[in-house]
Formats: sequence, structure tokens, C-alpha cells
Amino acid sequence: MAKEIEVDHLIVGAGFGGVCAAIKLDEDGERDFVVIERGNDVGGTWRDNTYPGAACDVPSQLYSYSFAPNPDWSMSFSPQPEILDYIRRVAEEYGVRDRIVLNTTMDAARWDDERQRWLVSTSSGRRTTTYAAKTFIVGPGPLSEPKLPDIDGIEDFQGEIFHSARWNHDVDLTGKRVAVIGTGASAIQIVPEVQKVASHLDVYQRTAPWVIPRNEHRYSSLEKLAFRHVPGLQRAARTAIYWGRELYVPAFTKNPKLALPAKMMALQNIRKGIKDPQLRAKVTPTYEIGCKRILISNRYYPALDADNTELVTDKIAKVTGSSIVTTDGTEREIDVLIVATGFYTTDIPVAHHVIGRTGRSMADRFAQTGAAAYKGTTVPEFPNLFFVIGPNTGLGHSSMVFIIESQVQYIRDAIRTMRHHRYATVEPREDAFEAWNADLQERMKPTVWSSGGCASWYLDEQGRNTTLWPRTTFVFRGLLHTFDVAKYVVTGASERLHEEVNA
Ligand code: NAP
Repeated sequence: MAKEIEVDHLIVGAGFGGVCAAIKLDEDGERDFVVIERGNDVGGTWRDNTYPGAACDVPSQLYSYSFAPNPDWSMSFSPQPEILDYIRRVAEEYGVRDRIVLNTTMDAARWDDERQRWLVSTSSGRRTTTYAAKTFIVGPGPLSEPKLPDIDGIEDFQGEIFHSARWNHDVDLTGKRVAVIGTGASAIQIVPEVQKVASHLDVYQRTAPWVIPRNEHRYSSLEKLAFRHVPGLQRAARTAIYWGRELYVPAFTKNPKLALPAKMMALQNIRKGIKDPQLRAKVTPTYEIGCKRILISNRYYPALDADNTELVTDKIAKVTGSSIVTTDGTEREIDVLIVATGFYTTDIPVAHHVIGRTGRSMADRFAQTGAAAYKGTTVPEFPNLFFVIGPNTGLGHSSMVFIIESQVQYIRDAIRTMRHHRYATVEPREDAFEAWNADLQERMKPTVWSSGGCASWYLDEQGRNTTLWPRTTFVFRGLLHTFDVAKYVVTGASERLHEEVNA
């Protein structure tokens, strides 16, 4: 029999989202909570992605909590180890580290309507624990389940094989023949590092990405000192970066032609980085810039142009025990295969494990509607469940930490509202959910993600964009500033009758 622990709030995931939720609940005096984390540390994607060259492509001043500025970033775009250290430090300094239960996996979650609790079964090795929680805050991260390519024979490969997000540091790539499958954000950081040490590198490109220069800056000691001691300086830097980034929004959401300067920069990046005209042609995308995530690198193209690298654009036919064979019949022998093929994004993996009030799983609901939530945070049939980074909250231009803080503000206000009015449950009304999502999908139509002529992880199998937010981030923040209880069905703690507020 699993041990049961009653808590007010259960948070799943200790990445940027879960840690932020924990800190802010604690600040509100909501001390009865537990964070469960399946990994062996906090940090989420920044704990998992340890591949060589891993770094953020959003400036550090913005890619950090507004309430915990860090004057010590070494670079304008932080490397992964610094970001991981930052999350660890913030969790420690804000006193939530000991509320995080590591190495604990959420196996299943079920809403118990009798008890008005989420019953969340977890396991840690052979130990199982069920949490009975009033509210359930779900922040597993949209980029946490690695996706392996479905390529004939890949399971028969006899050399070393690993996903970019599960880097095997025991494998020394020096002098090896290495293949990298994929040319997304992860791959373009990995390729220059591998090219430096491998005897030969094959990069398998299915679709060329748009890559603009990485205007990186190393902060001097003087700058760090100024960030630490000059009042308001770091906040001003953050604000300037924030608004600079918001200026990109119309190019993504209204008129892709506005992205022409970025396209010119990307084309110049190709000319600068690659001498061979044939290779230049191969890496030049044929779709609108912004349709897939815009990547930043100064080192990717020179690495492709290096003598020990081959960019392979023929389709992969199969993998054998020691090679990759493309559809033109060419076989390339390799020692190590790195799959940088992305993550399960639109098929939100956690949804398969969550059963709501009506007895069906969230995945079943999403099978009908596509992954969708009200304000990216709450879902009808799933009372008192709040996503951090839920459907349609992703960004192509700015910091997800800004989105996380906006959602956490909404969740805090929901909890305050529930306490104040003694509500036992809140659940978004279907009409509010439908109106929100109809508006979202209408706004998706003119975006470059819909009309830019590419396939991307932003779109689900039906071609619906269920991942991105199609407006400015300040609009998102404004819409989530206050918990709009009128859009919810609420029940009182004792009478159990569903009462519609402002029906
Ligand atoms: P991704 O953007 O989904 O890229 C996956 C790559 O693998 C694509 O080039 C894709 O080609 C290719 N691919 C997938 N399946 C394939 C198959 N069966 N055969 C051949 N190629 C295949 O994944 P990611 O690079 O890991 O990045 C995911 C997201 O993580 C990014 O968009 C970004 O949001 C985030 N990220 C950020 C950073 C950063 O901040 N610097 C770094 C890494 C990741 P197609 O394009 O043809 O689908």
C-alpha cells in the first residue's frame, strides 16, 4: 500500500517553472506544498541538456527571474552550466530547495471528486507515494521528452548512439567518425564542437534552418561590478532587451516581410561562413524566416565548411550496425551517432497520465480538441489543475521565464481567490475555453508559423499550432494578471454544489 501524504499544493517539475511556482507560493504564505522532480537535480531542460556548446539563445539578462537578477553572468547569452547554477542558487536562496523531492516520477494523477483532491501517485525507485493535493501545478516542460527518429534499423546500430538531451559524456569523440542527425537549435550548437575533435563528421540535414549571427558579448569585470552596484542598471538593461525583442512580434504574427533584415543577416551569415557555392545552396532555406525557430550561431557554417565535415541532404534510408545509408545508395561508416531530433511537443506527454473529473485522460480530451487550455493554464474537466508552460504559451522571440512568471502570477491569484471565497474547486468554463482557443487559432492564420511554408514542432498532426503564443508577451501578462473567476465553474468546500459565478 503506497504511503499517502496530504498537501495543499503539489508541483510537478523543478525547472524554471516549478521553482518559480514554489518560490511565489512560499512568498504568499502557502507553505504546505511539495515539488516532485524525476531528475536528480533542479534545472529541467538546463539539467538535461549538457551537450558541448549548450547555451541559451535568449540574452541572460532577460532569461532569468525578474525577482532574482544575476549580475555575474559571464556572457550576454549564458552557457548551460551557468544557467543550471543560477536555478540551483535561486532555489536555495529563496528557501524552497528542501521542498523539492528529487528522483521521483509522477506515474499517474487522478481527480477524486468525492475528496476534491488530486491523487498523484509517484515512485522513487521501489518506494511509492501518493500525494492528495488540493491544487496540482504541472510544469514538466515542453522540451523534456526526447524524440528518437523513426529510422529503419536504428535499433541495430552497434556503435555509441545517444540523443542530444541525453549526452553520453563517457564517449570520447576525439578521432571518431561521428554523424549528427538534425539541424535544429541543439544540433547547430553541437556540430562546431564535434567538428573540432572528430576525425570525420556527417551532418544529416532534412530541412535547412535559418541561422543569424550570434552577437555575443563577454561581460567585463567592470560591467559586472556596475550591474551589482549601480541602482537600476541591470533592470534597465533587461527592460531594453525586453522591448527590443517585442519589436520582432509583428514580423512573426502579422507580416513575415518585416523580417527582411533578419533574412539579409542570415544570408550574409551563410556567405561569410561558407566558401563552397554548392554548400551555400544546400544550407539556404526555401521557406520564410521565422517559420521554424530562428537560430543564432557564428560557428555553425564554418564547421559545415570544414574539410572533415560533410553535409548530407539525401534522405536517410536506413541505419545498419555501423553506418547510415541514404536513399541514393551511399553508405557512410560511423563510430558514433548523435540524434539531435528534438522532443515530443504537441503531444504533451504528461497528458497521458492525468485523469480528470469525467474519468477521461487529458490526452483523450486533447485527441478531440488538440492540446489546448484556457489562458495556457487551465483545462475544463481538470479542476484545480494549473499548467506552467501549457498549450500555446511558447515563444519564438523572447524569454520563457517571462511567460512562466506571468502564469505563476495567475495561479497565485487563483489560489488567493479560492482561499478568500472558500472555493474548493475552480474549473474553466467550456465556453470560456472555446472562445479563448477560437481567438487564438484565428490569430494564428496570418502568422509565419502557419503561412511560412515549413513543417515545424510548433504544429500538431492536424497542422494546428498548439505550442506558440501569437501575440506580444505584455498582452499575455496583462491577460493573466488577475484570476478571472467569472470564467470558471466553482464549487464551495462544503455544499459540493456546482455554482456558476456570474452565470
Ligand atoms: P528541433 O528544433 O525539433 O530539431 C530537430 C531536428 O532534427 C530538425 O532539424 C529536424 O528536421 C531533424 N529531424 C527530426 N526527425 C528527423 C528524422 N527522422 N530524420 C532526419 N532529421 C530529423 O529540436 P532541437 O534542436 O533539440 O530544439 C528544440 C527546441 O529546443 C528549439 O526549437 C528551442 O526552442 C529549444 N532549444 C534552445 C536552445 C537554445 O536556447 N540555444 C538550444 C537547443 C534547443 P526538420 O527540420 O526537417 O523537422
